[in-house]
Amino acid sequence: MVLEDEFVRHKDLYYADGSVVLLAAHAGKTHAFRVHKSVLASHSKVFADMFVLPSTAENETYDGVDSIQMPDDAKDLEDLLRALYYPGTILSMLENRNPLAATKYKGILLLSQKYFVRVLQKLLRARFRADWPSTLPEWDRLMEHYASISASIIPQHDAASQFIDNRMLEPASAIRLAREANIPEILPAAFYMLSTISPFMDFDTLRSPNPPPLTDSQGNVLLWQPGERSARWGLLTSDDWLCLARGRHCMTDFAQTFEAQESQCMCDSQNCIQLDNKKKLLKGPPQDFLRVLKEIGSQTTLQQYPCYNSLQALGSRSLETRSVLWENLGYYFGLPEVVDDQNDGDSDDIALVESEFIDG
Ligand SMILES: [Zn+2]
Repeated sequence: MVLEDEFVRHKDLYYADGSVVLLAAHAGKTHAFRVHKSVLASHSKVFADMFVLPSTAENETYDGVDSIQMPDDAKDLEDLLRALYYPGTILSMLENRNPLAATKYKGILLLSQKYFVRVLQKLLRARFRADWPSTLPEWDRLMEHYASISASIIPQHDAASQFIDNRMLEPASAIRLAREANIPEILPAAFYMLSTISPFMDFDTLRSPNPPPLTDSQGNVLLWQPGERSARWGLLTSDDWLCLARGRHCMTDFAQTFEAQESQCMCDSQNCIQLDNKKKLLKGPPQDFLRVLKEIGSQTTLQQYPCYNSLQALGSRSLETRSVLWENLGYYFGLPEVVDDQNDGDSDDIALVESEFIDG
């Protein structure tokens, strides 16, 4: 028998007719959820197995029913229970490209995997996979969408609306979720996105009331520009940093090879349009190589100009190089091979209702 006032009873998830009390800690307090064994068991084999164990005299009780001390964070457990009792609450998590998704549903996804709450697990995994581009055309569509968001920023508008990241996928939290929930498919795109963001631009620091000033190697103050992207750098582990550093190194190497490749131009001048374009790739850091290669690939000039042919050739080489770069991302960043380790004959495929990018 445990002392009753030690615990914080949950305001909704504490049913008078509940048959079990789950206890879990969060921020130094133990929270009590009084729920139903039958409900939990119907969703989860792990809970079902837990409840068939015979009650013994040594079993802990609380408020007259069995109590179980859970090893999980109370906040995550609350999210899981809420999803089971009030399915409507997970609908907002299932909106496509919800920017906070990776932070919001990490706990619930990990717990649904741990307790085999299959439907919830499948829905959230499918949502997360669908949010991140897995092909270059998908990546391009997402970037076009982001460019349109950036272009819609009104200068001098209130600061909050200038944080365009609030409406975009945040790569560091997505990487943590992908690693912990074992969803490696999204890692190449997430690491690539992270590589295009300045490590000086921290998501949370920028939103703090008085962000500390940042300086570059020359001592110049680095100012955040409205529309500039940031990331939750503090979430990365040392392994993630190593992957990022290796990926950046490989991509710079790749860009140097592209730039060094011989290309003759008829103009033979210092102001060659083709040469100017070729050099664009090595301006930086950080550099969005996919964006610059696409830009080089779309350059054109009048057919009668001497640079016309060499620029055409450079353009098609850029687009080929771009596809190679995309295909190699996993290799550059040293990411795990994607294999279907579920091996339970139960695929993760689930139909999601997709809405095309809708933005207010
Ligand atoms: Zn030329």
